[in-house]
Amino acid sequence: MDLPLAIKEQETIGSSLVASGSFFTGILCPTVYRCPNCRSIYKFILGPGDVFLGEGHRTCSKCQQEFRDRSKEWPLISSMDRIFFLFPMVVDGWILLAFVACALLAYGGWSVGTIPVLMPVAIFFATPLMAWFIFRGYQIACSVHRFSLQEKAKAV
Ligand SMILES: [Zn+2]
Repeated sequence: MDLPLAIKEQETIGSSLVASGSFFTGILCPTVYRCPNCRSIYKFILGPGDVFLGEGHRTCSKCQQEFRDRSKEWPLISSMDRIFFLFPMVVDGWILLAFVACALLAYGGWSVGTIPVLMPVAIFFATPLMAWFIFRGYQIACSVHRFSLQEKAKAV
């Protein structure tokens, strides 16, 4: 059963900027996945070297052609890819920014009246990160669940 493999394209919006830093590469070089048959886009990810979770195949919503979509289930991906999955470039940049902002504020000891500025800033940075990890955690749980169902189906 050899299905055609999806087309993976690296957009080159920021090709001249690629050398200037991985953080900007992550934002400016989205990866586009296309159906190998009709070339319709089915997945769009910010940043290079990404992985996404799935059963490994899908049916195109446009042409109804089945193909391998380059996705893998969580138990099958390498530990390196797992790190990329949880901490893509954009998240790395955000954590770095949060760290620098909090360090500066803590060092400066800035406050508005009696309320230290550090607290709302920390919440501002932490909230999207928490949402991100809850979202990813949910995706991983779904993937592990799908995988164990597949394994059971194979065993029968
Ligand atoms: Zn298609």
